[in-house]
Amino acid sequence: MKKIFVELDQLRDIVKEYPTPFHLYDEKGIRENARRLYEAFSWNPGFKEFFAVKATPNPTLLKILKEEGCGVDCSSYTELMLSDACGFEGSDIMFSSNVTPREDFILARRLNATINLDDITHIDFLEKVAGIPETISCRYNPGGDFVINNQIMDTPGEAKYGFTRRQLTDGFKILQGKGVKHFGLHAFLASNNTDNNYYPTLARILFQTAVELKRETGAHIAFINFSGGIGIPYRPEQEAADIFAIADGVRQVYEEILVPAGMEDIAIYTELGRYMTGPYGCLVTTAIHHKNIHKNYVGLDACAANLMRPAMYKAYHHITVMGKEDLPADHMYDVTGGLCENNDKFAIDRMLPKVDIGDLVVIHDTGAHGYAMGYNYNGKLRSAEVLLREDGTAQLIRRAETPADYFATFDFDESVNAKLIGKRFR
Ligand SMILES: *Cc1c(COP(=O)(O)O)cnc(C)c1O
Repeated sequence: MKKIFVELDQLRDIVKEYPTPFHLYDEKGIRENARRLYEAFSWNPGFKEFFAVKATPNPTLLKILKEEGCGVDCSSYTELMLSDACGFEGSDIMFSSNVTPREDFILARRLNATINLDDITHIDFLEKVAGIPETISCRYNPGGDFVINNQIMDTPGEAKYGFTRRQLTDGFKILQGKGVKHFGLHAFLASNNTDNNYYPTLARILFQTAVELKRETGAHIAFINFSGGIGIPYRPEQEAADIFAIADGVRQVYEEILVPAGMEDIAIYTELGRYMTGPYGCLVTTAIHHKNIHKNYVGLDACAANLMRPAMYKAYHHITVMGKEDLPADHMYDVTGGLCENNDKFAIDRMLPKVDIGDLVVIHDTGAHGYAMGYNYNGKLRSAEVLLREDGTAQLIRRAETPADYFATFDFDESVNAKLIGKRFR
């Protein structure tokens, strides 16, 4: 059984202050998990996690992760701005972008972020717009299928990211010619993977490639970046990834490949997003309607605009009807939001205890790629974000949008603007 990190009484108090829907985050869970990650990789002195900002771009959460020793992984101008504002500096910022606009490279260079190039043509582009730094990373795409234990995990051959193997060698040589002294190597080959062999398998590919690149070009490789991709158990029957087994698997491959090649100074980096915050967030909603037609529906006060993953990927998110955890799950519902879109369903044919209007319905594992993927379709407003602090108190870390926020970018007619957002534009 999947248990939520907040008790009903506690949640009732929070809801009195902050009306549903909102995303709630568990500070204690986030901190403990980050500490476990660092402990697991403590065999590698240079190890560093660069939290993927896109997963949960909230300054309060970024600061918590900063306190736990994490850097940030950015891929856009505003993610760089946010990281800078939160006090991340220089090599604490990884910039792993693609199809990168010039302004983004300029800001990344101004912040002295470590740039992880997505493409060989970006070498000339970066040189032209912002100059080439002494340390740079390249993203590798091996193509074909990515296989773990004879099972196809993903198809890099279909992915838009990275350099081919040939381009890596050429790119390293070109970059050396432009003054680069230290290199990083990066790859992201499978997303949301709870298989403990994912990182060790990726490590084997990247470590072997690093040894070859060093032999071919003489380049000094300073770090290898496994990017994100460690998954979380969204489903109750799924097993969680074991970070200690993962880190130990990587250590064995490191000792097998890098140590004999005299490359034991290589730092291991990660850019985990989902794994860092996913299980430590949930979407708190209230059941507001029942509807019984060809199927039985429960309508919530949240919709896909607050959590897009079920609509977008048919992703499973566990649902707890608060206070009814021990009752039999003997009612089948489609649990829906109010968008004029039939894919706005948090769950289809889900067995739950009988849901009553007013019940607090909690959707699990929204701590990463949850709020962040929200949107305003149908004029739905984004929800608030609340932090459950270690001392059990709740802190509003982002207010809910208001209609004025939604209308703020219009510049139409003064009287209309004034009516919608309550102030004049010009
Ligand atoms: C999305 C992304 C991540 C984080 O991925 P998760 O699946 O959340 O771990 C890390 N690095 C890059 C470059 C990404 O695009």
